[in-house]
Amino acid sequence: MDIFRTASEIRSWSRSRKTAGRTVGFVPTMGALHEGHASLLVRASQVSDDVAISIYVNPTQFGPNEDFSKYPRTWESDLETAAKAGVKAVFAPGEEFYPKGYRTEVVVPQWNSVLEGEIRPGHFDGVTSVVTKLFHCVEPDFAVFGQKDAQQALLIRRMVRDLDFGLRLVVAPTVRESDGLAMSSRNRYLSESDRKRALVLSRALWASVAVWESGERDPGRILSAGESELAAQAPDSVDYFTLLDPDTLAVLDRGPALSKPAILVVAARYGTTRLIDNAVLGDVWG
Ligand code: AMP
Repeated sequence: MDIFRTASEIRSWSRSRKTAGRTVGFVPTMGALHEGHASLLVRASQVSDDVAISIYVNPTQFGPNEDFSKYPRTWESDLETAAKAGVKAVFAPGEEFYPKGYRTEVVVPQWNSVLEGEIRPGHFDGVTSVVTKLFHCVEPDFAVFGQKDAQQALLIRRMVRDLDFGLRLVVAPTVRESDGLAMSSRNRYLSESDRKRALVLSRALWASVAVWESGERDPGRILSAGESELAAQAPDSVDYFTLLDPDTLAVLDRGPALSKPAILVVAARYGTTRLIDNAVLGDVWG
């Protein structure tokens, strides 16, 4: 497994793979790798010959009051996880990734300020800009993202289509702990009791999914099943529990009956830890 620090190194690696007639799969991450990330690496190796991962805690996607400096950094164990998954190249740029005087941004207007984007202004601009840079460095044939960050995957899918990135986007399912909690680098910040309380998030999603699976298409009725579940063990606060149209990013909570796939999304806080989760209603990723 090679470790590269600069854009030109990883780009030469990728180009040499392609010259050898091989395809390159890419999984961008911020490190602190867990089984969710490992599953993306496995998915990438299923669709491509050689897999590259990036490990970079991107400062531009953190707001001023967010956890950039305390974001977990677990370099040694990340390398072990990557090696175990058969990764061929690790791209871990340093601070020079954003050179002095850096100004350019890639944004997905309007979509960048819905739900997560409304609560975390500028977050998605940081994500789409850094993913653009990473795509330019790695030049992958396939890029694998997690459904865990569904809104992020939707913005990147839009961006890849709009700007002709010439790669295939693959969205892989959320990996959960055995009790249902979606794996996240931030789960480690939950106290034992908050971690137990947080199981209500997946329970609420499943309650609404069950109503949808029974044939109900009214957004209000689908949501109220999950809302009752949430109310039974309320998080410290709920930022949103709603339905999202994956094609327009419209919030569907009071709209007409669903006539196509939608995504149920939830965000809630336990103390200073903010968790997000979601479930798809139908084939959202195609
Ligand atoms: P991160 O480094 O955690 O910001 O995310 C890197 C990639 O891993 C993103 O595409 C995430 O959606 C994905 N990811 C994070 N958690 C999970 C999970 N529990 N299951 C599957 N993918 C995940």
